[in-house]
Amino acid sequence: MFKRHRRLRNSKNIRNLVKDVYLDVADFVYPIFIEEGADIRKEIASMPGIYRYSIDRVEEELDEVWNLGIRSLLIFGIPKEKDEVGKEAYNDSGIVQEAVRYIKRLYPEMLVVTDVCMCEYTSHGHCGVLDENGYVKNDETLELLGKIAVSHAKAGADIVAPSDMMDGRVKIIREALDETGYKNIPIMSYSVKYSSAFYGPFRDAADSAPSFGDRKTYQMDYRSSWQALDEAREDLDQGADILIVKPALAYLDVISRLKDNLNAPIAAYNVSAEYSMVKACSQNGWVDEKDIVLEKIYGIKRAGATIIITYFAKDLARWIAEGI
Ligand SMILES: [Zn+2]
Repeated sequence: MFKRHRRLRNSKNIRNLVKDVYLDVADFVYPIFIEEGADIRKEIASMPGIYRYSIDRVEEELDEVWNLGIRSLLIFGIPKEKDEVGKEAYNDSGIVQEAVRYIKRLYPEMLVVTDVCMCEYTSHGHCGVLDENGYVKNDETLELLGKIAVSHAKAGADIVAPSDMMDGRVKIIREALDETGYKNIPIMSYSVKYSSAFYGPFRDAADSAPSFGDRKTYQMDYRSSWQALDEAREDLDQGADILIVKPALAYLDVISRLKDNLNAPIAAYNVSAEYSMVKACSQNGWVDEKDIVLEKIYGIKRAGATIIITYFAKDLARWIAEGI
């Protein structure tokens, strides 16, 4: 006797009829790395197919993204100058601010999300200002994060995404935006960000590896399951509009728990090593790239994320257009 579920897998048409997880190009946010300087189009060695662009070379990439139907970008900046306190991060003519203006001039309808953090701008590579012992000074850092968010909003960012994990940052950023006339700018907060080896290739991409120590004191420990919901609730209470879980694949349980317990859109960040591992395997012929990417992206969606930040966005858009 066939079980019911087996009957429902019996033909392609039946499988299509009963499926209930869908991918839409509108689900994807595509990260772009913009480097200060001229004539830069440099492939990131550990992330084949992903480049750093200077503003004068990024037009082609933006055209491609737009033509594929992708309407959301997450912008990371790589400044020329770094210092102890990451001043470039809130410079109104800094690299992210200029990039946002440029993108908005070219594609006013493109949704631009900006990463709000200091690690790409500090000479030591930590996500905030440090004390004499090398610990991040939480409250001093908060004030600067507020300034960064406001300068991004001023440049035209549609959403700001604080990724630093300082305590109280969402509240401070919300207040800073509200006080400066940006009440309508949502905060997409990295609410649940684990200290993870999956960020390795990103640090190449954004030049943001800490020069000493690690980020374990302010990022979450993956051996604890009880922190995630608390962190996410706290961000919602402070005024976050969208919650990010990062990384995605090793944390599908977390996505699902947030989805089941909170009324907020969940974004999953399918991070750099989750991209690079697939690329390395498929380049060796060990896996089929398309099959494996679809399986994991469907998995993220099935877990409950409605927004997926992914370096595979262009491929996914292509496959969706082809009918997957
Ligand atoms: Zn950071």
